[in-house]
Amino acid sequence: MYQTAVARNAGEPEFHQAMHEVLESIAPALDEHPEFLESGILERIVEPERQVMFRVPWTDDRNRVQVNRGFRVQFNSALGPYKGGLRFHPTVNLSIIKFLGFEQIFKNALTAQGIGGAKGGSDFDPHGKSDAEIMRFCQSFMNELYRHLGEHTDVPAGDIGVGAREIGYLFGQYRKVTNRHESGMFTGKGTGWGGAEVRTEATGYGAVFFTEEMFATRNASIDGKTAVVSGSGNVAIYAIEKVQQLGGKALTASDSSGYIVDEAGIDLDLLKQIKEVERLRISSYAERRTSARFVSGGSVWDVPGQIALPSATQNELSLRDAKALISNGVEAVAEGANMPCLPDAVHAFQQAGVLFGPGKAANAGGVATSALEMSQNASRQRWNFSDSEDRLHNIMRGVHSAAFEAADRYGRPGDYVVGANTAAFVKVADAMLAQGVI
Ligand code: NDP
Repeated sequence: MYQTAVARNAGEPEFHQAMHEVLESIAPALDEHPEFLESGILERIVEPERQVMFRVPWTDDRNRVQVNRGFRVQFNSALGPYKGGLRFHPTVNLSIIKFLGFEQIFKNALTAQGIGGAKGGSDFDPHGKSDAEIMRFCQSFMNELYRHLGEHTDVPAGDIGVGAREIGYLFGQYRKVTNRHESGMFTGKGTGWGGAEVRTEATGYGAVFFTEEMFATRNASIDGKTAVVSGSGNVAIYAIEKVQQLGGKALTASDSSGYIVDEAGIDLDLLKQIKEVERLRISSYAERRTSARFVSGGSVWDVPGQIALPSATQNELSLRDAKALISNGVEAVAEGANMPCLPDAVHAFQQAGVLFGPGKAANAGGVATSALEMSQNASRQRWNFSDSEDRLHNIMRGVHSAAFEAADRYGRPGDYVVGANTAAFVKVADAMLAQGVI
């Protein structure tokens, strides 16, 4: 079945990788549920319900016409409206969007919030663009995408390259072309116009809550431990913040130009100033802080730490990196990013007895809080920061329990990959079965 799917989706290596990881780990669930195979659930679940690709023409500041490509892959809506972020990055292609959309089905199922899976984006690169260029691009992107969205149909959010600024422009154009202030059609909005408290922090905080739950199974905690973090965007910054709040010390951050090591612990105000306010390269951090050094090239995973939180992008942590972390005594790895660890790196962590939280469980806090934003929009309520953080914390406990218990039940105790995939797959497959062949 996997080979057929690979042949049908030729030239999409990231999608193949994501499919393989799920299909190879759900065998125990399929043994218990032959009805899933008889009803063609596998063949259906790897085929998106709908895929949209479109031209995004826009004019740059020098009045030249630029053309990018837009995507939205609406993968599965058995559990609820399609839900998943938009990524703007030059590497975006159909394979990347399909891998992300496929992962999203299972991640969203684990949150138990009644949301389906989707992903979208563009090969547009926001780096170095003026605000006006970003606005014109976002408006052109939404001129096509709006017809496929809606609070009961498909609800996007941010991802790499899509933060508060981009979401503002995208939402504004949706409102303009539809003549509807439909708060629930986008999440990650500004808190002054329908956005939820803690959405900005949710993915990073959630990944650290998940790590804390994994440690608790061994009567340990984050308090007093060191953490190595990659990335310096939304997920990385708030993962660092929560590590520090729980008594840990985060030592690193990175971007595509290199990484910084700060043995005194990351100065979060400085990191936010450089990345969120001034939008500079990570080397500026080391220029302004004597305890830090910038390393161009090399691997951030060579820095010793007891916790590793890969929070930049897919396939950023190789087997070599895993071996370096293991020999330096890493105890827990939680994927803040989607599929950052290569499959052989994951196996190496598991064989070495390192606690390993796969992205679809560990980084589910972002989309879970997006679902909380949808609930607040629908009921016209607003929950405060601490209430919202408590809800996020509870959801992450639930995600951890679902994965932990399923791993036990299917004979692989402590294997969160098998646990997360089987728990989520059974939930989606049950819903698909009940809803007939559609
Ligand atoms: P941001 O755009 O805010 O930050 C991304 C960070 O990763 C930047 O520091 C960026 O550096 C770095 N990065 C991106 N691509 C590369 C690359 N090819 N090589 C090296 N560094 C790279 O994105 P997010 O923090 O939102 O997302 C990070 C990861 O988390 C992604 O995998 C995303 O899918 C995942 N995720 C995000 C969620 C969210 O709520 N935002 C939810 C769940 C998962 P540079 O600026 O130099 O490119």
